[in-house]
Amino acid sequence: MARRTKIIATIGPASDDPSILRQMIDAGVDVFRIGLAHGSLSDAVERYRHIRQIAAEEGRVVGILADLPGPKVRLAQFEDGGVALVAGSTVALRPGDPTSNATSLGVDYADLLTDLQPGDQLAVGDGTVRIQVTSVDRTSAKAEVTYGGLVQGRPGLHIPSDRLGLATPTAEDLYKLDAFVEEGVDMVAVSFVRSAHDIRRVGTEPYPRGPLVVAKIETRSAVENLEGIIEASGAVMVARGDLGIEMGIEELPHLQKRIIRDCIAFGRPVITATQMLESMITAATPTRAEVSDVANAIFDGSSAVMLSAESAIGASPVNSVATMARICERADAEFDYDGWARRLQALRRLNNVDDDTRLTDAMTGAAWRAATEMGATAVLCISESGFTVRSIARFRPSMPIYGFSPNPRTERQLTLSWGTTPLVAPDLVEGDLMNGLVVAARDAGHIRSGEFVAVLAGARQNRARATDQLRLVKVP
Ligand code: PEP
Repeated sequence: MARRTKIIATIGPASDDPSILRQMIDAGVDVFRIGLAHGSLSDAVERYRHIRQIAAEEGRVVGILADLPGPKVRLAQFEDGGVALVAGSTVALRPGDPTSNATSLGVDYADLLTDLQPGDQLAVGDGTVRIQVTSVDRTSAKAEVTYGGLVQGRPGLHIPSDRLGLATPTAEDLYKLDAFVEEGVDMVAVSFVRSAHDIRRVGTEPYPRGPLVVAKIETRSAVENLEGIIEASGAVMVARGDLGIEMGIEELPHLQKRIIRDCIAFGRPVITATQMLESMITAATPTRAEVSDVANAIFDGSSAVMLSAESAIGASPVNSVATMARICERADAEFDYDGWARRLQALRRLNNVDDDTRLTDAMTGAAWRAATEMGATAVLCISESGFTVRSIARFRPSMPIYGFSPNPRTERQLTLSWGTTPLVAPDLVEGDLMNGLVVAARDAGHIRSGEFVAVLAGARQNRARATDQLRLVKVP
């Protein structure tokens, strides 16, 4: 069985080279993520154009996700080689100070002292170093190092999101977003979302005219407001790095399952991210635990799994992607397709939804059942916005999904959808649309004469969500 779970790879200095990017596409990247937290905007836009050019030269459909930094607070630069913060020692946090050392930490956030209170637990970098605020005065806050360790560069300072006065998206986010919307980016990830309102403040046109907005779930408030955020978003990311710091690392497996389950219920693609193959930043093979983690994220129902530092700054981005692809392919083969669709019946949320959504839900459910009972070899589906394709993907049909769209941006947005091969819809001036799709899929070598396929389409093609026709067709 071909791989069904999608792979997102973050690009960075280790993967900028054109030949590396080409090899990463060959190894299985479906979506490239450009993190906007580091480096200049012009370099990020350059990276974006570069990927587009290479994907076009390779004749491959590759999605691009721009990840907005959000209200990330950082410590000022440490000296080269870093500094050890020692457990039990006291440090001063000083807003605006341009340097950091073992006793004094500069912080790039002017309102820090207004937000902090004695007793607050703060995390530095990836969360291994922890400090607890003991007092706050007019010029600095004092904190005790509760877990020590090496800190270097300009690490993040995690302030509990219910303390942080900074809103998301920030002015910097919106400025960067504008530049990427101008470029026609396919997907945009919003960091440190706290409510559905934060997603609405992004203010881009609804997909596919605008980018698919991906809500990163990494704050306590986002967990509390999960359903509203999912409904307001085009897709969701389980951002396990910051989520683990904020909620406690032992909560992660349970939160991951819950977030994924709710995304499936609402028909939104869901990405599981961070430290998936972390050891491959330096090693040629992942740990046993990492391999199990990726497979279990797939069994939980992830649409996509993501590489972060492994592909951005790691020793071998290509090997990381190839390894991820092998793990996914094996887990996809083992996935409980029948059990999944049965459970989905109970999960779907159809209260207070419009008629088109209910229609698409019913038609995609019927397509899954008919295709499964007939032993169809594929589900073909045409969709202007991609909504119908995402809706059928949530049933996890055991046969491939071919998602046609007349809109090239929808085609690239479908790179995130589980089990889906995105295709450009044939340009039919006359004739039957459903037959046209079958012939196009056959001529492209995806299906063969004599096979049965299920075809889903809308009679009212000018409407985004109007899938109202299902046919089972013997391929001519
Ligand atoms: C995360 O925190 O898990 C995440 C994906 O965000 P970032 O990599 O931008 O810190």
